[in-house]
Amino acid sequence: MGYGYFGKVLWIDLTNNSFKEEELSEKHYHQFMGGYGLGCRLLYERMSSHIKPLSQESIIGFFPGLLTGTAAPYSGRFMVVGKSPLTGTWGDANCGGNFGPAIKACGYDGIMVSGKSTEPIYLSIMDNEIKFIDASDIWGKDTIETEIILKKKHGNSIKTAGIGQAGENLSKISGIANDRGRIAARSGLGAIMGSKNFKTIVLKGNKRVEIYNSEKFMKLIKEYNISTKIKPLHSMRKSFLGEMFGMVKSMRRLKLGNIDAPNLMRTIYRNFGTSIGNTISAETGDSPIKNWLGIGMYDFPYKKSTNLSSVNINEYKIKEYGCFSCPVQCGAILRIPELNIEEMHIPEYETCCAFGSLLLNNDLLSIFQINDICNRAAIDTISTGVTVAYAIECFENGLLNKNDTDGLELTWGNSKAILSLVKKIILREGIGDLLADGVKIAVDKIGAESAKYAMNSLGSEIPMHDPRYFNSLAFSYAYDPTPGRHTTASFDFAEIGGYDKFEKKLHFPKKRKQNKDNKVEAQVITTGFHQILSCAGMCMFSTSFGPYPFIDLLNALTGWSDDIDDYLTTGLRIQTLRQAFTLREGIQLSRNELPDRVIGNPPAKKGPLKGKTIEYKDFYRKYCINMGWNPDNGYPLKNTLEQLDLEFVIKDLY
Ligand code: SF4
Repeated sequence: MGYGYFGKVLWIDLTNNSFKEEELSEKHYHQFMGGYGLGCRLLYERMSSHIKPLSQESIIGFFPGLLTGTAAPYSGRFMVVGKSPLTGTWGDANCGGNFGPAIKACGYDGIMVSGKSTEPIYLSIMDNEIKFIDASDIWGKDTIETEIILKKKHGNSIKTAGIGQAGENLSKISGIANDRGRIAARSGLGAIMGSKNFKTIVLKGNKRVEIYNSEKFMKLIKEYNISTKIKPLHSMRKSFLGEMFGMVKSMRRLKLGNIDAPNLMRTIYRNFGTSIGNTISAETGDSPIKNWLGIGMYDFPYKKSTNLSSVNINEYKIKEYGCFSCPVQCGAILRIPELNIEEMHIPEYETCCAFGSLLLNNDLLSIFQINDICNRAAIDTISTGVTVAYAIECFENGLLNKNDTDGLELTWGNSKAILSLVKKIILREGIGDLLADGVKIAVDKIGAESAKYAMNSLGSEIPMHDPRYFNSLAFSYAYDPTPGRHTTASFDFAEIGGYDKFEKKLHFPKKRKQNKDNKVEAQVITTGFHQILSCAGMCMFSTSFGPYPFIDLLNALTGWSDDIDDYLTTGLRIQTLRQAFTLREGIQLSRNELPDRVIGNPPAKKGPLKGKTIEYKDFYRKYCINMGWNPDNGYPLKNTLEQLDLEFVIKDLY
């Protein structure tokens, strides 16, 4: 055991109901940290290429970040890793709550699961004892019912993560839920658990990692927490702020330096969560409207979108909560008397937009209900919303009719039909079976003429941020090894907070926004930093909350004396390995193209994004050159692999 980690990963074999512990060297952590970095290192080595994601040879892993389980603010996240059933690329999905710290509390830096059980099963790791337990009584139950049953059986202090009906039904847009319906949603990894008849993991433990310099570590945290204390808001100011998404960005652009933007961001997140974006993003052009065909100010104007405002949502709030070790606590629990819902998570911006402006639906109650059933079924709300949008356009253009849709009138804003369709997708019922694996597979079934309605990147449904608003999202949607994701490294999106404002040791080239070459360089730095942030288990929002002693905390935890450049190299190593994993599967990201609508081709004739078409291909070529990858095909060059100590990849790519 080193400092900051246990040096131990648990391997589970569901075919034989057996397990073994594997000790890892210090080098594993120093080079890949934790989270999906460590997960990718192990999966790359232990899982052969071209394994079918839903076969018993497929491996799924659960990895907390390197800082996860410590008191470091915002560091409580864990990542699920595997080969994506949805895209066939490297797959990872990330979630907060308390499950990540619980993996550490059991004394492991990761749990890897292979094989297949003949009957439904769940795994319990409690007080140093590992058991394989019959799951026939919880199979078919949703994730919240399952958690309640398991807590009755094993006690309230357990933490769980598992699949709902969507994963059991092998939906390639299903995820894995923890903390009563929070989902590690993307990449379709829930289907891997389903294919293994593996329902849930139950954890309970009380272990703690050793901290190299505990005094310094705690001092850094104390100083940070004092400097970032959130002051309560007067209710009038609350509703004012609720309408002012984008304020922080505008203030920065206008150089209103005397306003404490990080404090404002913390306050906004604490009081409204991400749903703060519901109305304003539709106006600014960030939210896709009507399956990327519409313009917010005309097709989903304020008088409609205001129904979905965070101020309206807050009317239903009964308590606030947040992830382990987070001082901001942006989550909330709502009670919806009209729907007899006693408790549910506040819907995030992505969910509100995917079932709101994307479908021209301003029926807030329908969005609450969809949010609840999707969380319970553990299905990705981004992918599901995009799939519903695709189905509506197929219906509108005669590729589907009422005979195909089991009588549903699939029209824009028809909230009843949308809700019914989501239920059918979860249960693979009728038309739902055709749509349950996302838009790309639906195109294979409905026909190539429907492809123009399927907003995806290599099969991954595109999320709720428009590259014409955050330009470099086009680059990351197209080319990240987990394509079609807004939570991967994208320079413009990361500028909401600014990585260099978060970690003062980080420096970007000057004039990075105006000068194209400098922007490519800034993207490479963003790529490296984003990987270490994720693999430390940090919440993405944290970078908007002001200066944070990130590197100092990592060094105080581990005893390493790495500087920012060393950490950036670690980040670039992780990204290069994710890239190599995807290339080894035979998928050449460099050939990928985004749907025309997503990049503004042809450009909009009016509205806030008027005249904009986003160039991303040439940017990628330059990025590849700066990464030490071949710009023609995205292959990392041999000497890059050697420099990054990834020689073991060379035999696979060359
Ligand atoms: S800001 Fe929100 S999502 Fe991030 S760690 Fe805190 S509670 Fe979790």
